[in-house]
Amino acid sequence: MKLGCHISISKGYGAAVESAHRLGCESFQFFTKNPRAFKGKAADPDQAAKGRALLAEYGLTAVAHAPYITNLSTPDPELREISIASLVQDLENAEAYGAIGTVCHMGKHVGEGEEKGMERMIDTLNELLERYTGTCPLLLENTAGQGTELGTTLEQCVEVRSRVAQPHRIGFCFDTCHGFAAAAYRPENWEAFVEHARSIGYWQHLKAIHLNDSKFDHGSRKDRHANLGKGFIGEAGMATILSSPALTGMPVVLETPVETEDDYVPEMIYARHCRQAVDA
Ligand SMILES: [Zn+2]
Ligand SMILES: [Zn+2]
Repeated sequence: MKLGCHISISKGYGAAVESAHRLGCESFQFFTKNPRAFKGKAADPDQAAKGRALLAEYGLTAVAHAPYITNLSTPDPELREISIASLVQDLENAEAYGAIGTVCHMGKHVGEGEEKGMERMIDTLNELLERYTGTCPLLLENTAGQGTELGTTLEQCVEVRSRVAQPHRIGFCFDTCHGFAAAAYRPENWEAFVEHARSIGYWQHLKAIHLNDSKFDHGSRKDRHANLGKGFIGEAGMATILSSPALTGMPVVLETPVETEDDYVPEMIYARHCRQAVDA
């Protein structure tokens, strides 16, 4: 696996790549812009070029993440337009920064029901991929199922991909906390879960993993990340997931609660220790 964590680009993209390397990351994730806002700046060409050169020099894999505020299933036409325009910019920035994909959460049906929410999401994605014609794939992230979130099952993620006009431009990102909270898997049955994910055409298009423990129990449908081994997935669960051969070569990014980015270092050491038997 290519282990890493979430890194801020507030000091510029080049500085973010330097930080990731300094912390011992093999991959890292960054927000394309302020995660709570739609309006962001276009990528600075100098920073982008500098960052891309550093990625190559250090052999780092970068994963972009769109703002949380985006709802691919919104019934509000104005919000839909703002979301699409925002995501076009996210994908353009991610491409300029050399990211392997841009992660975006599955939509929220906001009371309209799953079927309608799925329809709207597919419609929004079709328009997005018509307007953004670049090379960066959009990676749909599974959700914990808070409120009216779609995407608690892998089946639903696969369904969206198969129903859009350009499925080859859509991939997936799997969050271990969300999947656990949504009861999509149990850590003790991880290999059977991966097997199932392969059989329905999910794992083949999985481009990144968000590695987080969960502050709430299996099936709680709460999206609250815990530090590795300190939540309900626990040490044994984390060891099982991290020992999986299915993680080979995969960017595995921590989004756990930390005070500073340096706090990711001991957690990454812990994760590598759990993984050792497989990669050795
Ligand atoms: Zn996540
Ligand atoms: Zn989350």
